[in-house]
Amino acid sequence: MSKQYVYMFSEGNANMRNTLGGKGANLSEMTSLGLPVPQGLIVSTDACNRYYDASETIPEGIVAEIDQKLQELEVVTGKKFGDKDNPLLVSVRSGARVSMPGMMDTILNLGLNDVVADGMSKIMGSTAYDSYRRLIQMFGEVAMGVDKKHFDLDMDTVLKKYNIASDHDLTLEALKDVISKYKDTYLREVGTPFPEDPKEQLLLAVESVFRSWNTPRAKYYRKLNGFSDAWGTAVTIQEMVFGNMGEGSATGVAFSRNPATGEDELYGEFLYNAQGEDVVAGTHTPLPMSEMKETMPEVYDEFYKFAKDLEKHYHDMQDMEFTVERGKLFMLQTRSGKRTAQAAVKIAIDLVNEGVMNKVEAVNAVDVNVVDGLLHPQFDAKELEKVDAIAKGLPASPGAATGVIAYTAEKAVEYFNKGTSVILTRLETSPEDIEGMHVSNGILTARGGMTSHAAVVARGMGKSCVVGCQDISFNDKGDAVINGVIYLEGQEISIDGGTGFVYDGRLKTQEVEISEDFEQILTWSDEMAELDVYTNADTPKDVMKALEFGAKGIGLVRTEHMFFESDRIRAVREMILSTSQMQREIALRKILPMQRKDFEDIFKVMRELPVTIRYLDPPLHEFMPTTTQDIEELAVVMNISTTELREVIRSLHEYNPMMGHRGCRLAITYPEIALMQTRALIEAAINVTKELDVVLQPEIMIPLVGDVEEFNYLATKIRELSDSLIEASGVEVNYRVGTMIELPRACLLADEIAKEADFFSFGTNDLTQMTYGFSRDDAGGFLNDYYEKGIYGSDPFASLDTHGVSQLIDIAIEKARKVKPDIKIGICGEHGGDPKSIAYFKQAGFNYVSCSPYRVPIARIALAQD
Ligand code: PEP
Ligand code: MG
Repeated sequence: MSKQYVYMFSEGNANMRNTLGGKGANLSEMTSLGLPVPQGLIVSTDACNRYYDASETIPEGIVAEIDQKLQELEVVTGKKFGDKDNPLLVSVRSGARVSMPGMMDTILNLGLNDVVADGMSKIMGSTAYDSYRRLIQMFGEVAMGVDKKHFDLDMDTVLKKYNIASDHDLTLEALKDVISKYKDTYLREVGTPFPEDPKEQLLLAVESVFRSWNTPRAKYYRKLNGFSDAWGTAVTIQEMVFGNMGEGSATGVAFSRNPATGEDELYGEFLYNAQGEDVVAGTHTPLPMSEMKETMPEVYDEFYKFAKDLEKHYHDMQDMEFTVERGKLFMLQTRSGKRTAQAAVKIAIDLVNEGVMNKVEAVNAVDVNVVDGLLHPQFDAKELEKVDAIAKGLPASPGAATGVIAYTAEKAVEYFNKGTSVILTRLETSPEDIEGMHVSNGILTARGGMTSHAAVVARGMGKSCVVGCQDISFNDKGDAVINGVIYLEGQEISIDGGTGFVYDGRLKTQEVEISEDFEQILTWSDEMAELDVYTNADTPKDVMKALEFGAKGIGLVRTEHMFFESDRIRAVREMILSTSQMQREIALRKILPMQRKDFEDIFKVMRELPVTIRYLDPPLHEFMPTTTQDIEELAVVMNISTTELREVIRSLHEYNPMMGHRGCRLAITYPEIALMQTRALIEAAINVTKELDVVLQPEIMIPLVGDVEEFNYLATKIRELSDSLIEASGVEVNYRVGTMIELPRACLLADEIAKEADFFSFGTNDLTQMTYGFSRDDAGGFLNDYYEKGIYGSDPFASLDTHGVSQLIDIAIEKARKVKPDIKIGICGEHGGDPKSIAYFKQAGFNYVSCSPYRVPIARIALAQD
């Protein structure tokens, strides 16, 4: 049997999302649950791929299949596509396997033309023409790329001419006028007349959905989320029902629970006498569902029941679209709802308590990418008491954010590139703004509701967002006017996405506490996870934060970070630039007590938990003095001339510092550095052991080892000194000496190294750099070209390359465990806190992942998720 590319809703189910897209799969599932779903067909994601294989044409066979299924739909609905007496109209929507808000396009009311509109108006009055004008506009914009402003201008002209306030109140005469103007505009902008043939409309619409899979904004969204370009989108073709049939008709979107707080209430918005796009486009301000409870109680109750049934069926909170056509409710879509981190956690706990889901499902239901929002700072409560808000909008996505105003996405990116934090401030956002939204600290819009583009996208990104802020208007120059005061681009404001308040200037923020609900999710996660989460932290403050967030140890103290502090950088420079061992030892003696104190402070906080201290690994250039003043001052301290000092600096210049004299190579040339660090570490451990009477677990980590002899040379010296210090002290210190695995050669020779080392920790930052052969400092400059040209899907420094780099890790772990089965193995590169990379680490044989403190909770949950 030949492959099927087009499916009726009745042929699919929720498990077919890869083929039918999320929307199609859920519509199929709702159909099989017996909910009132307008029926339709789905052109599969495979068809989308065939479209691209065939140089962007829909293959004949697929066209025939669409035709055949359309005939089946005509039978099911008892209507006929293109018929003037009993017309079937359809919507065409995209649906990838995962929801990509605002990324893809929708066209409603296909099947209308002059004749059909005329015939239909006999059955449903002016709704027929209202639907027709919407079709010409949407088809023009979405399928043919006509700029919206042309249609807006036509509409404005007609509204003025007939003195009508809103496009919802157009008279028949005005509607006909709009249609004629829209058609002229279409012809002028597209160059061909609006297609009157419904089948042609349909195929062009399907094609436009396929094409929208590859728009820059869709590609950007996929890159951002690590989704594959190869998935393709499905196209859902569904019988239209009409929320714009006047009295008793409405359309809306609602969540089965409040997506901002998690409260158990129907939460959403709707518009009377409208079509779906009006609600989500943010162009009309919709009404809350509570109003529907008053005016259409029966429909409301029915909808509430469906919402609860769907929650039980999907074991999750739902985001639904519905239309009421003259009092009859239709369900147009359901999907798992995007929510704030607070809501995600509360809903998960509530659903477990209500018996709708179990603990495993609850942990899996939490989107780790938005959990970040729970950990973000809030405004300092005391400071808030002192200021008045300048405006208030809807609290769309929580968190305190401050920054300078940018009125366009481009400006936001420009500020961001200069290192300035930004609040993107717009009338409303659209998918083109995605990059600007991504780089902004917060998003503020004057229009739109809780389901507007800005709200949905910001929530997905875990960013602070306030929408529908009606206190803001925009003047002719495009500047915001808030209660009579003009705000210029670049001016600072603060927004609170949890309350909806907007403040003038930059407010102070404060840290957040983890809620009981969140704590519960984390505890369940720990019960399920097989790996521990350690942290990368260099200061007691960071270490404390990480412990608060549940870290079980420190996987990486980067000791060079301790050397950067202003009071010690000079001693460090003196050490590095010394020309004799004696001079170096003098400098090291200055550093020793500071370093010992650093370690003592950390040991005191960590007590018996493991602390992995990585020995000095600076790319040398980072420490060099560059200003004349610094050079002059250092020359005095070192008792040499500035000329001599400059000469030393020049002699240490490296063409490629990342592959230069760093890591263990530095300690091999100057073992006294490693010995100073050993003395500082072991003496600190001895002191803290004596003071607190605990058995510490320091782990000494040697960086950038590529050969077992490098390791042996240093480990022998370190162990000799450590043992002698410990023996003289009379206390017990369980130190271990291990190594970073961050060079391809170390991976290939991991068995030799494992025989000698007490533990391994993978430095995936360097391992990625060295495997790809491009510098982690410089790759940013050209990687964008790789994404744009589809050569790489995502940044290998953000998410581990599980195609190439992972093979080296697999080899290393296998070799190491062969010679030392219980060797402790961790990962401390940035990937350690990345949920996607964690999915790989979980099954690769690691004992722990280590990440920055704020990512510890994220890693704990990610480790527990399927
Ligand atoms: C690494 O290379 O992954 C690592 C953790 O070390 P650093 O980032 O300090 O080079
Ligand atoms: Mg490294």
